[in-house]
Amino acid sequence: MRKLLVIPGDGIGPEVVEAAMYVIKAFGSELEIKVAEAGDVALNKYGTAMPPETLRLADLADVIFKGPIGESAFDVTSLIRSRYVLYANIRPVKNLPSVPAVRSIDCVFVRENVEDVYIGAEYRVGDVAIALKIATEKGTRRVARVARKYAEERKRKVTIVHKANVLRVVDGFFRDVAMEELKGLEVDQMYVDAAAMELVRNPTRFDVVLTPNQYGDILTDLAAQVAGGLGLAPSGNIGDDKAMFEPVHGAAFDIAGKGIANPIAAILSAAMMFEWMGMKNAAESIRRAVERAIEAGVKTPDIGGHHNTREVGKYIASLIS
Ligand code: ATP
Repeated sequence: MRKLLVIPGDGIGPEVVEAAMYVIKAFGSELEIKVAEAGDVALNKYGTAMPPETLRLADLADVIFKGPIGESAFDVTSLIRSRYVLYANIRPVKNLPSVPAVRSIDCVFVRENVEDVYIGAEYRVGDVAIALKIATEKGTRRVARVARKYAEERKRKVTIVHKANVLRVVDGFFRDVAMEELKGLEVDQMYVDAAAMELVRNPTRFDVVLTPNQYGDILTDLAAQVAGGLGLAPSGNIGDDKAMFEPVHGAAFDIAGKGIANPIAAILSAAMMFEWMGMKNAAESIRRAVERAIEAGVKTPDIGGHHNTREVGKYIASLIS
């Protein structure tokens, strides 16, 4: 039986995770589920954002399902990604039927997840502040191989996003190594600023998009909005033998506690989790249930509904159980 650790997180985290748990528990017999605190909530309570007990449970878990973390995201989300070497962040972006969108879009971002400026190497030397940006050959090859895998299941097309006209060494290296790893596929490259523009102007030109860590962080919020909003965008952080799934959105403190957060991003992240565990039917049945709920008008205000987070979660779960 797989060990699942659930971390509700901060802000709207506990609300969307509770809603997603109705769905996850519909397939609960396959999982041994534990729940633990981390994030700002834990920091205020125990003086540390990642308490030792949570870390112990995370070490033991096969898979982690996590809500968003507030101010202490670096100490929780980045820590989990680097401690378990979850080197590929998979963010599919696709319109959902009946959800108003900026444009048609159907692509998968494969974001490098443990290198770049997120290694936490920042220094202050007098009146100068420095941050290091890292790309290793090993790190670039392994994430490029993940992009290849997705491309082979889709249209065999990858766009590498970088800024090698300015960061000639580090982004140039990322691009060149990725190019090598993607040989045999249709590969193009784009500067990150142009990619931001194209994602709004002509998003259907993208299929699999491979990015260094920070550009992927920024572009995937943009792409999520193009598809209909952050409340719908799921993600998975994948390593060789462990993974963590979480909605793309943050803690959204402005709407926390109001019961209006959209749980679909979290629920679709659960679908990705089941797919990663080899439970393809569970994943498909969750995705179908999400679409049926939206079509039935059971949705939160951000996508034009009047239902609350819990009602949406329970309704979606009722369609699959
Ligand atoms: P972070 O920096 O952690 O990514 P952020 O403050 O930049 O967080 P989010 O918290 O992700 O951004 O969300 C930005 C806004 O989008 C929120 O203030 C909220 O209004 C809206 N939003 C985000 N997630 C949801 C959701 N699940 N349901 C409804 N609205 C959401």
